[in-house]
Amino acid sequence: MSNPFFETWTTPFGLPPFGLPPFDRIQAEHFPPAFDHGMAESIAEIAAITGNPDAPTFANTIEAMERSGRFLNRVGGVFWNLNSSNTTDALETIARDYAPKFAQHSMRIALDPALFARVADLYERRGTLDLAPDQLRLLERQHLGFVRSGALLPPDAKARMTAITERLATLHTLFGQNVLHDEKDWQLVLEESDLAGLPDFARNAAAQAARERGQEGKYVITLARSSVEPFLTFSARRDLRQVAYEAWIRRGEHEGEHDNRPLIREIVALRTEQAKLMGYASYADFKLDDSMAKDTSAVERLLLQVWGPAKEKAAAERAELQDCARAEGMNEPIAPWDWRYYAEKVRQAKYDIDEAEVKPYFVLENMVRAAFDTAGRLFGLAFTERPDLPVYHPDVRVYEVTEKDGRHVGLFLHDNFARSSKRSGAWMSSYRDQENFDGAVSPIIVNNNNFSKGEPTLLSFDDAETLFHEFGHFLHGCLSNVRYPSQSGTSVRRDFVELPSQIYEHWLAVPETLSTYARHHQTGEPIPQDLLRRLLAARNFNQGFGTVEYTAAALLDLEFHTRSDAADTDVAAFERSVLDKIGMPAEIAVRHRPTHFQHLFAGSGYAAGYYAYLWAEVLDADGFEAFLETGNPFDPDLAAKLKTIYSSGDTRDPMELYTAFRGREPRIEALLKHRGLTQSLGDA
Ligand SMILES: [Zn+2]
Repeated sequence: MSNPFFETWTTPFGLPPFGLPPFDRIQAEHFPPAFDHGMAESIAEIAAITGNPDAPTFANTIEAMERSGRFLNRVGGVFWNLNSSNTTDALETIARDYAPKFAQHSMRIALDPALFARVADLYERRGTLDLAPDQLRLLERQHLGFVRSGALLPPDAKARMTAITERLATLHTLFGQNVLHDEKDWQLVLEESDLAGLPDFARNAAAQAARERGQEGKYVITLARSSVEPFLTFSARRDLRQVAYEAWIRRGEHEGEHDNRPLIREIVALRTEQAKLMGYASYADFKLDDSMAKDTSAVERLLLQVWGPAKEKAAAERAELQDCARAEGMNEPIAPWDWRYYAEKVRQAKYDIDEAEVKPYFVLENMVRAAFDTAGRLFGLAFTERPDLPVYHPDVRVYEVTEKDGRHVGLFLHDNFARSSKRSGAWMSSYRDQENFDGAVSPIIVNNNNFSKGEPTLLSFDDAETLFHEFGHFLHGCLSNVRYPSQSGTSVRRDFVELPSQIYEHWLAVPETLSTYARHHQTGEPIPQDLLRRLLAARNFNQGFGTVEYTAAALLDLEFHTRSDAADTDVAAFERSVLDKIGMPAEIAVRHRPTHFQHLFAGSGYAAGYYAYLWAEVLDADGFEAFLETGNPFDPDLAAKLKTIYSSGDTRDPMELYTAFRGREPRIEALLKHRGLTQSLGDA
């Protein structure tokens, strides 16, 4: 039987080294032999580098490394994307089997003494090698990568680093699979008579979810944020809100085989051990040493700077909600499952604005068009749908991205809808990264969202912001214009990677975007000016709640990872003690509780790094302010400077890139203003 991974892909855009995957032909059983072949091939490629009798040069070592592992990357790109977006039992099994093998494989290369000796030799001589700036940075970062993997450690410590990395890979995989299991497993099946308070869009989405789950004629609420959040916002049934809420916050927290608590215990203990082997007091110290923030205290300072004002604002919000609840005859204190419900009522009363009145103007198709056209105005890109290309699920839409003159830039896959085979959240990923090393390679980027499908699909303002956010990440991958694959697109420091995504959100709220693209799904009429004005005025509303739920999660992350002794953590007790310590308001839940905090425990990318969103928000709020200062949100000169941030990948230092765009270092004032936290900013 033929295996597409061992063939030349004849799909269009099959530019070297490979093109759009032939999704229609790829089966789960094709992955294991391709993985095995890919790992063996990249080990052979590394052996050829270390076996080279010539003295190390940038070309025969660093560039040769950039050329290695391409086959494995191609297979892995397809696999990890499908496993996140459209998984099956077969793919999940392969993920569990191969996670430790890949970890071992990458550690084998990262701790190869002969390879490190060549890199270290070049690093010592880097000032004499006559390297271009991108090459010098590549060498420095490759060297640092080896050091941070443990290349300078004695042999027994190296062996332990490898064992820890392997075990963590397995634990991360299991953690994510457990969350997906709980989200798939749970549903709240409702009858027509249970829907009090739900507007049409939420009823339609619940009916659609019921159809997909074989419950035709009923209504289903799932634990996808896009399903449960509207339910908590609108359902007049306090009892059902409580049921949905409690299931939502208990994902991963229950006895049995899908319990994430023991996994967290082991993960944090291993990370702490890893940090100590590397000579750091805590995992956060280790992690933040290679970040834009540089150290734990800088992160703490930022989080605490917003925590006090955010709590004050939330307390004021709570008082308003309580008044509203009392007026409606609810005399108990506001509970976490009440917050969204009464917040919506207060929002309606205060700003005369109703989510159900707004949503008909936010048609998914139009918001996609808005994101495309904004990229056209700012960066000169054009998008053409290519329904002829193969996809992995009928909901996925493929677009060719070109310059306005027709020059090919890349491919964009848009996968917008929630389904039980997709992990929750929203994210960008790539099937192929841009590079110009051995010839130009164009990027193939995917955006995943988890919108509730409808006829038509209507978004909340928050959903539309998420769409723009991920689209900003897509642009970071797509506008990438670098030489080397490992410097491509989003391969920047984690606390810089959210700048391109978050700054893009601002263009959604620009009045001319909304008055052009926010059109009623039945009449096609643009959103009335008066409604638009009220919508924008309401944007600071409930920001106390939003800032508290996020910042508490970021502080929790930091607390988990700043301990110097993490053995035998009682996860629930630890969570409780941290929330008590920071004075978490009882009516607000942390945005992600530990047992489903995938940023922290389904991988290590955002571990001790959840603060990155707020860190980047300082940059995006300050950066967008630059456009407002010109009086033109599409100012061409500034857009050209911003494009440099999107196209530079990791070829330059992030602060240097930012200051080149802004003309100075970032300031926090715009963030505080944007979140409506300025008035209450005291001496925090
Ligand atoms: Zn993001």
